[in-house]
Amino acid sequence: MSAIKDILRYRCPRCRQGPIFRNFTLRGWLSMYENCPVCGLKFEREQGYFVGALYISYGLSILPVLALVLTFWRVAHWSYGTSLAGATVAYLPLVPLVVRLSRVIWIYIDRTLDPN
Ligand SMILES: [Zn+2]
Repeated sequence: MSAIKDILRYRCPRCRQGPIFRNFTLRGWLSMYENCPVCGLKFEREQGYFVGALYISYGLSILPVLALVLTFWRVAHWSYGTSLAGATVAYLPLVPLVVRLSRVIWIYIDRTLDPN
């Protein structure tokens, strides 16, 4: 349970104190620390490290987008294409949050499977 809490707080998987991301700004919403400011853990182990986070991002996004499509299609009686476009637009503000969260989850999974 504490891991979930620390993931949601975007904390370092090793010391659970250091922040992974810098302050949230519109231009720098994905700005990460290279190393943990507390324990020095390197977050991006290698070039392309966060490609795995794309799969997590997809998994986190599919159900909310599907729910939005079904709501627009069935409840609002929009056409399927319009519902899909509407769901995409409605979901866009959540993308920075989901991308950040998926990166943190990826780091936790990777560090659990390969701590060194
Ligand atoms: Zn740390």
